[in-house]
Amino acid sequence: MILQFYNTLTRRKEEFQPLVPGRVGMYVCGPTVYDYAHIGNARPVVVFDVLYRLLKHVFPQVTYVRNITDVDDKIINTHNETGEAIGAITNRTTRAFHEDMAALGALAPDIEPRATQHIDQMIHMIAALVDAGHAYAADGHVLFSVPSWNAYGRLSGRNRDEMIAGARVEVAPYKSDPADFVLWKPSAPDQPGWDSPWGRGRPGWHIECSAMSTTYLGETFDIHGGGQDLIFPHHENEIAQSTCAHHQKPFVTTWLHNGFLMVEGEKMSKSLGNFYTVHDLRKEFPGEAIRLVLLQTHYRQPLDFTKDGVELARHTLDRFYGALRQTADIDDMDVAGPAVPDDKVSAALADDLNTPLALSHVHELVSSLNKAERDAGAARLRAVLLASGRLLGLLQNDPEEWFRWQPAGVQTLDEATIEARLQERMKARKSKDFAAADAIRDELTSAGIVLEDGPSGTIWRRV
Ligand code: AMP
Ligand code: ZN
Repeated sequence: MILQFYNTLTRRKEEFQPLVPGRVGMYVCGPTVYDYAHIGNARPVVVFDVLYRLLKHVFPQVTYVRNITDVDDKIINTHNETGEAIGAITNRTTRAFHEDMAALGALAPDIEPRATQHIDQMIHMIAALVDAGHAYAADGHVLFSVPSWNAYGRLSGRNRDEMIAGARVEVAPYKSDPADFVLWKPSAPDQPGWDSPWGRGRPGWHIECSAMSTTYLGETFDIHGGGQDLIFPHHENEIAQSTCAHHQKPFVTTWLHNGFLMVEGEKMSKSLGNFYTVHDLRKEFPGEAIRLVLLQTHYRQPLDFTKDGVELARHTLDRFYGALRQTADIDDMDVAGPAVPDDKVSAALADDLNTPLALSHVHELVSSLNKAERDAGAARLRAVLLASGRLLGLLQNDPEEWFRWQPAGVQTLDEATIEARLQERMKARKSKDFAAADAIRDELTSAGIVLEDGPSGTIWRRV
């Protein structure tokens, strides 16, 4: 299968070929762990999860590295505001991040390096940059010298003035050029710090990703991803550091960036009250419905995330899971050969991750399954639907579980009570006491439980 991706570096869609046939290395910038992830942070995680699944489907060996930034001024600020120990903040928020992303159906990366465990590699890389004349020490800081490398700015296509304005770089007395950026900075005694040839201090954010990606993927690797806002300065700086520390060896072949996410039509902000954390959204909606919203828009387009949209996505998944539930009895029928995703679904993803098109094909598969006879052909179709869903990270839950999901803190009937009432209703119907049977149905409806009478009995779901 031929894969094509839009490469930010070349500004066009290109056929993707790994540097080593059959083996792909991919790095995505991970979270800074000081607070719950918001829905904007979830977009790259879900988008690159689909990419990871697609790559694994096509290539025998894929190494996906996504870091944890656990040393950063935002973490220090949280510590100063709340008094919670730095290690406690980073451990707690890393755990929450894992839970939230798993609820969105994102696979764990193969390697998840923490910045604080790679300080030696960062120091080593900074020293190599100093030796090569691309960095200099001044006033306890080490800075990358932007004028020392004339390819700087190629990824973002910015000119020098735009770069200085865009980076909002402070003009500091220790900088010999305003565009220069920090590789290492001094730490006060009460701040996290490590001994280095330039004194006790801590790394700048950009060098963290350069050092961690090289450690696990080598000096040159295939794919680097992140949100569009990271193109400049973060990714521009990663390229400069890695290329200059590695004797001008190219850093990354293909750069992919997801578009920005807005919430309820506006830029997400705490003051507008539209700042949605994944943690809070999960109390209101199943994680899979949130994931579906993130995949309904092409990853390079801007996305307007709304709660109404999640509700609609939930209904779409009701339809998908409904088809799976209605055909659960043919699940164990023999399907010839291993189930592979539908060709149209994989072809859509192979074309620059066209998830909206892939989802329209999933809709078609569901329609076909709903119409199919209950035979081996339908069993095969069901297996193809499930395999297609797996490629998108959807439809992997038990349909019964899906329909039983309810928001956190809502006190409705528990499963045992519902089952008991269903038995009573069945008894009433058998003895032709339809008034009693209808009363039970009404009682359940008002408790948010919908009954569906089908050929294989009555099934229920929460609404
Ligand atoms: P941060 O923790 O701010 O470094 O962001 C982690 C990831 O989330 C990066 O890849 C960002 O580009 C991405 N990101 C942050 N905010 C948004 C947003 N509103 N829309 C899309 N991606 C975002
Ligand atoms: Zn990064």
